[in-house]
Amino acid sequence: MTHAVDIAIFGGGIAGLWSLARLQQAGYRVALFERHALGGVQSIASQGIIHGGTKYALTGKLTGSAMAIGEMPGIWRAALRGEGEIDLRKVRILAEHQLLWSTGSLASSMAGFFAGKVMQSRMQALDRGRFPPPFDDPGFRGGLYRLEEPVLDPRSLMQALQAQYGDLCYRTDSDPVAERHGDGWTICLAEGVEIRAAAVVLAAGRGNADLLSAFGQPEPAMQLRPLHMLMLRGELPPLHAHCLGASANPRLTVTSAPAADGRVVWYLGGQVAEEGIERSPEAQLRAGRDELAALLPWMTLDAAEWATLRVDRAEIASPGGRRPDDAYVGEHERVLTCWPTKLAFAPRVARLLEQRLVALDISPTHAETGRLPLSRPPLARLPWDEVERWN
Ligand code: FAD
Repeated sequence: MTHAVDIAIFGGGIAGLWSLARLQQAGYRVALFERHALGGVQSIASQGIIHGGTKYALTGKLTGSAMAIGEMPGIWRAALRGEGEIDLRKVRILAEHQLLWSTGSLASSMAGFFAGKVMQSRMQALDRGRFPPPFDDPGFRGGLYRLEEPVLDPRSLMQALQAQYGDLCYRTDSDPVAERHGDGWTICLAEGVEIRAAAVVLAAGRGNADLLSAFGQPEPAMQLRPLHMLMLRGELPPLHAHCLGASANPRLTVTSAPAADGRVVWYLGGQVAEEGIERSPEAQLRAGRDELAALLPWMTLDAAEWATLRVDRAEIASPGGRRPDDAYVGEHERVLTCWPTKLAFAPRVARLLEQRLVALDISPTHAETGRLPLSRPPLARLPWDEVERWN
């Protein structure tokens, strides 16, 4: 039996789920197919920061990235209030504002950056008397700034989307066999189910490369940018902050979350994660310890437990393997491929997809999506809940 949908989406990370929600709301008959777990690979492992572009403006001027992403926090905040394009009221906000801290030595060399008009609209200097832990220590000599960028718990985000749109999500265990027909695609899933779709959305992160082959598409090319993230667990204050380094990338980005046992997990990214890709887990742990000892020397972290995580960012290929400035949505033969580049860009991906569908003259049928004879994907777990052995 063949099941008809308007749009078949592959991949249940943030790009697939946000697009599923928006396309369903627009009246498209949509089904999403996920290979492993809802929440994806990158999305569940992300630091949950809804960037407004400040970290891309660390050179003092607004780059392409900073401009494209500037409107994202507003869209997300409206959704978090229940007044936006998606209802995200159930999502756990870990921090209303991300912080930016400069070490004492850097504060003067970055004076131009802090004085810039653009930056002043995006960040607010905090008075020393109002510094939260761990910056309320006399040992801290740098500056502290508040950014208009909330930090979300990625699992509760995925849970909120699953609760509302999970009945349109199905599990499939291998890449499909796809055949083009006049006005769309016939897709045979390994589970013996055949789908007819007017268009296909590939939102499978690094899985897009194999899916593109399955749909006979030689392009677009994908790039992977690996990270070697660090986690530490202990009696720690909540912390959501970028530490400014000498380059346009934050030297360290810390986000935190309560662990199941009441302790706090710090999740460390930024330069230390980018530079750590060649290091063994042991060497990366040493690098992480050294970095925190250098940046927060007054803190005692001896009792903390550590772990590392390797994860790749999957993106549209860019010259020199650089980070793309914007979300990517491309189309060929009714296969729409997307890589959001950032979690924060999910609403933009969905908007670009909708525009492409209109341009292709693929209209919503407003028909009911019947239940497909496939199982449901589970919800992905946070990286620190997956750690088997802490060091
Ligand atoms: P994914 O989340 O990777 O989801 C892809 C899904 O497709 C997965 O569920 C996978 O199982 C599924 N899949 C794969 N193959 C198939 C197949 N054949 N069929 C069906 N399904 C398939 N961005 C921010 O804005 N803020 C941050 O703080 C931030 N921090 C980050 C930290 C880390 C460590 C990383 C790696 C990224 C971070 N990012 C951040 C970037 C952001 O996480 C990604 O851009 C975004 O999550 C990508 O979402 P996605 O849905 O495209 O991919």
